[in-house]
Amino acid sequence: MATFDPTRDRQHHDAVVIGGGPAGSITARQLAAAGYDVLVLEREEFPRFHIGESQLPYTAGILERLGILDLFPAEDFPTKWGAEFTGPSGDFRRVDFTTQGGGRREAAFQCERAKFDDILLRNAEQLGAQVLHGARVTEVLESDGRIRGVRYRHGDSEYEAYGTFVLDASGRAGVLAHRYFKNRRPNTRLELVGYFKHFGDVDEATNPGIEGDIQVGHHPDGWLWAIPIGHGKLSVGAVTPAHRARGASPAAVFDEHIARVPRVKCRVEGATVLEDVRGESDYCYFSNTLAGDGYFSVGDAGCFVDPIFSAGVYLAITSAVRAADSVIAILRGADERETQRDYENFVKTGYDCYTRLIYAFYDSEFNFGRYVASLANSSVTIEGRWIARLLSGDFWSRNNPVGELLRNNREYDTFDPFPFVYGCPVYPEQDAAESNEAAVVG
Ligand SMILES: Cc1cc2nc3c(=O)[nH]c(=O)nc-3n(C[C@H](O)[C@H](O)[C@H](O)COP(=O)(O)OP(=O)(O)OC[C@H]3O[C@@H](n4cnc5c(N)ncnc54)[C@H](O)[C@@H]3O)c2cc1C
Repeated sequence: MATFDPTRDRQHHDAVVIGGGPAGSITARQLAAAGYDVLVLEREEFPRFHIGESQLPYTAGILERLGILDLFPAEDFPTKWGAEFTGPSGDFRRVDFTTQGGGRREAAFQCERAKFDDILLRNAEQLGAQVLHGARVTEVLESDGRIRGVRYRHGDSEYEAYGTFVLDASGRAGVLAHRYFKNRRPNTRLELVGYFKHFGDVDEATNPGIEGDIQVGHHPDGWLWAIPIGHGKLSVGAVTPAHRARGASPAAVFDEHIARVPRVKCRVEGATVLEDVRGESDYCYFSNTLAGDGYFSVGDAGCFVDPIFSAGVYLAITSAVRAADSVIAILRGADERETQRDYENFVKTGYDCYTRLIYAFYDSEFNFGRYVASLANSSVTIEGRWIARLLSGDFWSRNNPVGELLRNNREYDTFDPFPFVYGCPVYPEQDAAESNEAAVVG
């Protein structure tokens, strides 16, 4: 594993990946494992802080499929069996991942992203990807209508790197969709801000819920999360509509939100504050175009919805696997345009399903019962396992009746019309078997 030296090493690669978060690492590892020459340019030195700590059972499922789930042992990555949702009137609901059925993984895990992302990026490096930390991409290089490479800063110097493909996995920075093509659009239904911090020395005895679960407490001005990220550490975050946070300091908004959720408040009362409040704003956006001549946008670089159901990393990883498969297919002779449209529609199908789920949840004021009842106005009977599966990451299956009902709600359309690309990327065999069963029963 040699360190990439920009002054000495080759400038042309099969793929240049911008960003070494989950989307970038997984794209790079998949390409490197298939024998391609990949360079990852990451502006930070890892390990570095990142938000996005609660994972889904399907995330564990796809990591298992890739053969790397055991890089995240339970001693360091607390097992998450479910998610609790509480409201101001004392209402309580818990989604239990063990009820999904159909051979799906029954648990997920929580993580400290500094560790999680570092492990993933090292894994890409071990498989042969070249990684340059402290390399900030500043410009996109295009000629004859094709993206050909990037210019980046490393130390005091500027360099160029060229790739047969450039894969933008730069997260919210969105080097291609946001800054270069300027075709990323804000999701005006979800104009939110999030303020968060880590607590240490959190005593598990103060947890009124089930160890490892994410807690989500909602109230009229937003919601609060509490995520156990390991060894007495708790991540707590407040999400509120941007207009409600205006004029108040992040710390004041954060404290005020904690005070409203007793099941989280009691966990941090005797705890140590590990850092000041951090924040993210205007983080819900989408782009109709996710691939084009010479490039792909992967993960948050193209689309991001709302973190309430913790699907960001899952969507980043699933899109990364598909992007790498698409690049490999094109390099082996598949039609570029056709492969890219398939990628784009696959990725949009996943983000679209997740977005609809969130709209429905907000529209029913976080009330699962009301939410399910409103969906069940049709002739479909909704069993709890379909909700549990959807909240675990079942975004691409046609067999999930809740997913299908949501997709049929035209009020929830976000992207310009596009053909859905079905087929679960995590459990394709089970999904196909269930389709066959449904066909036989039907
Ligand atoms: C408030 C909040 C809470 C969230 N909670 C959850 C959660 O509980 N669970 C979950 O799954 N998701 C959550 N998310 C979403 C999650 O953070 C993202 O979806 C996930 O990190 C996306 O991965 P990515 O690899 O696409 O982007 P990132 O993880 O952001 O990685 C992008 C990388 O690109 C690098 N980069 C950026 N610009 C450049 C450049 N110019 N040159 C070189 N490198 C560059 C960055 O340094 C970074 O390392 C949350 C998001 C928010 C805002």
